[in-house]
Amino acid sequence: MGCGDAGMEAAEQVIRAGLLRLGGAMLGELLAAGNGYRGPRVPCGQGHEAAFASYRDKSFDTALGLVTVARAWYHCAECKHGLAPRDAELGVARTSMSPGLAAMNDLAAAAGPFAGAARLLEELAGIRLTAKRVERAAEASGTAVAEAGRDRAALIAARRLVPLPPSPLPDKLYAVIDGTGVPMTSRETAGREGKSADGRARTREVKLAVFFTRDKLDADGYPVRDRDSTSVIATFEPAATFGRMVRAEGIRRGAEHVRQFTIIGDGAAWIWGIASAKYPAATQIVDLYHAREHLHSLTRSLEFMLPDHKEEWLAARLEDLDYGCIDGIEAAVRRYPLEGVKKDEVDKELGYFLNNAPRMRYHWFRSRGLFVGSGVVEARCKTVVGQRLKQAGMHWTIEGADAIIALRCREASSTWEAICNTPHTQTRTA
Ligand SMILES: [Zn+2]
Repeated sequence: MGCGDAGMEAAEQVIRAGLLRLGGAMLGELLAAGNGYRGPRVPCGQGHEAAFASYRDKSFDTALGLVTVARAWYHCAECKHGLAPRDAELGVARTSMSPGLAAMNDLAAAAGPFAGAARLLEELAGIRLTAKRVERAAEASGTAVAEAGRDRAALIAARRLVPLPPSPLPDKLYAVIDGTGVPMTSRETAGREGKSADGRARTREVKLAVFFTRDKLDADGYPVRDRDSTSVIATFEPAATFGRMVRAEGIRRGAEHVRQFTIIGDGAAWIWGIASAKYPAATQIVDLYHAREHLHSLTRSLEFMLPDHKEEWLAARLEDLDYGCIDGIEAAVRRYPLEGVKKDEVDKELGYFLNNAPRMRYHWFRSRGLFVGSGVVEARCKTVVGQRLKQAGMHWTIEGADAIIALRCREASSTWEAICNTPHTQTRTA
């Protein structure tokens, strides 16, 4: 080529731009082969017939640039509405983005802020879209994904869609359930009580469940998560609705067939309410890392009684916890007679352990090869939401956040879906 690095980069850009134009022209010709004419009349969708009116142009953005097609346009005299059957076939009804570009846009918008996503699409794919268009298209896709998820859950709950057990059947299936706040616009939190200084809510809670299998043990005897085994569901809906989603996802993941189904949570009552109601036979475990955090906070409230041996005291209690010896923790706390506010504070901290004692038999759980929680999985539960929706200065509407979370859940679940959610694993009853 006879040019330096700078010349090479310029050449790459010019050639790619040329190829995109060429590709766009080819796509346009390909699409021109069909004109969308379906005879003089077509159903309008509302029970009437729409009459052929004319051929009309429609332009939409594609992964290869702007493409314009001329397609048959029908008009319904009764609805006073027009339609082009071709648009639905091409996947561009009520949108000006092709399905291929929409998929690229979903990926970019799920990964980062809309302005950054627009820049990414321009830099990497040579497609120029405004941040607003990136946002609108991603929200439309995400809303459709969320609706499809809810529909699927309803069909499974009604046993109209019957997922077959996964094959090969895993021995152990886990669901980590968690809730996390998403910063909202003031309109979305109006009239809601919150934890901020003025008592107003700034966030709305999204509930998540991460399902995965973790069958094998490593050389040290710790369970290892199976690759490509994760699926994630999330919603802003109340616990009752979320519970039905957890039930449906559990059925889809084979919770009714595996030998050992375990539900892991941070200790919040609503999580155990769902676990007990939907999967009474499942083992319930309080995430060990959350329990440890609570032990640190219990130690802080007792600090004034432990002037010179706070560290040793905490270390001994962490050991109690690792053995699931909640009695030991209680006995160690009760050695310090407290009164008034301090007693209430310590009782509350201790209550967390007493209420959850059966869910903290860590030594026994581990001896059965069970996973008892980890920062990594917990982080994953939160990163689905946090990394994208909790950045500085972000304020969401419920619809917008719900859509983007749906895209991120789909992304996090994509490998499992690709492997296991083939048409042969789900059967629809008549
Ligand atoms: Zn009509």
